[in-house]
Amino acid sequence: MKRTKRTIIVICMIALMMMFAAVPAMAALPNVVNVTDTAQLQAALSTATTNTHLAYDIHIVGTVSAPGGTMIIPSNVYFYINAGSQFNAQGGNAISNYGVIYINGTINHSSNVTNFDDGKVFIDSSTGEIKGNTKLLTSGDVIDIRGSFKVIFDANGGTVHERENIEDYVLKANPYFTTLPEPVYQCHKFIGWFTEDGEDAWTIDDEVTDDMTLYAQWEVNHDWDDGVVTTFATCEGTGVMTRTCQREGCGETYTIIIPATGHEWTVTEVPPTCTEEGYTKHECGNDPAHDYVDAYVDALGHTEVTETVEATCTEDGYVKVTCEVCGEEISYTVLEKPGHNHVLTGHKDATYYEEGYDEYTCSRCGDTYRVIIPQLTVEGAKVASYNKNLQDKGNQNLTFTITLTLSDGVTTLDFQHAESVNGGQKGTKTFIYDEYTVVVAWNDNNTVTSIAVTLN
Ligand SMILES: [Zn+2]
Ligand SMILES: [Zn+2]
Ligand SMILES: [Zn+2]
Ligand SMILES: [Zn+2]
Repeated sequence: MKRTKRTIIVICMIALMMMFAAVPAMAALPNVVNVTDTAQLQAALSTATTNTHLAYDIHIVGTVSAPGGTMIIPSNVYFYINAGSQFNAQGGNAISNYGVIYINGTINHSSNVTNFDDGKVFIDSSTGEIKGNTKLLTSGDVIDIRGSFKVIFDANGGTVHERENIEDYVLKANPYFTTLPEPVYQCHKFIGWFTEDGEDAWTIDDEVTDDMTLYAQWEVNHDWDDGVVTTFATCEGTGVMTRTCQREGCGETYTIIIPATGHEWTVTEVPPTCTEEGYTKHECGNDPAHDYVDAYVDALGHTEVTETVEATCTEDGYVKVTCEVCGEEISYTVLEKPGHNHVLTGHKDATYYEEGYDEYTCSRCGDTYRVIIPQLTVEGAKVASYNKNLQDKGNQNLTFTITLTLSDGVTTLDFQHAESVNGGQKGTKTFIYDEYTVVVAWNDNNTVTSIAVTLN
């Protein structure tokens, strides 16, 4: 229902008389203001008006007159007109109500009050009728609190109208709520009002049949942050993430177990080599401290191949053992060169024409060399004997014997010759002897002066 914020009503007189035996126990509620005169009412209303977040109970005790003007009862004010009390607007005043007026006890009215919100009870301004919701009450009717059911809304940890609980009333003649209060509770979601048995939620369609208490039911509803990892998961250990409610003043946390990550294995088979054993390497990508090796395989050993190069007479040979797989040299043995084994395989005597030699050949490799025997030369020549009668001039028979000693120191050539010469005249004579040519010269005394020997 729409209504203007203010409703001005001209009232000649408002007198609400309430008579009942006992004042309800309100002392437990906060901010109860008992007003016993007009000034207090004015003060209480103005305070309530300007402190709209302040929950208020204004209890009318005794006769209270409100002077002319507009009185606003804010929505957070619970306005009680107690039994035996009178509320007198004293004419020309208005009450605009956004709260609730509870009639406690019997009303003996002689005035009208109108436009109360929520239709709890109102007194018609022109007719003086007292109305409660759909049921029309007429002037002179009696409303008895006993004709109402009291319903306590227990916020059950939250607050309703900033209290732990509130009371409300429905007329037995019309035992339904038109609205239900909306409680609040930080970090909780309101599910509904429930009776003590906690079964079905209470709705405005449910009939109130007795005094009762309705309890707010809540569902925890934090506003969790994304969480902070407070303990990191490892390969084999779980981690912890802590999530915190982001709402101011809550601070609730809960933890989530982060599963262990498990190892991130990379498995590598390292094959054996000739000299190193093989194995399987397990490396954890998350933590090198988890690495290990296993499945060892013996080293293969070398695969030997032998290369032999025999020594020659002049070059060392060797026996080299290597691994044909890895190339490693395992051993190297020098085969020492023996040197040539030269033996005499040829000979030619030197002559007076040419040199001779001894020829040596290596019995193994055929290497040869020759030792040259120098060509024979005439070392000396002398006249061994000759005819000494050359002093006699004239033709004579010159005879002489020539002995030649050759360069080898061994050979001696002797030859004799007889020559008829003209005595007293020098001359020469050439003899061909074997391979030698011998030129003998003499003087006019028939004395041999030179013998020259040359090879033919
Ligand atoms: Zn929270
Ligand atoms: Zn690991
Ligand atoms: Zn090898
Ligand atoms: Zn040789």
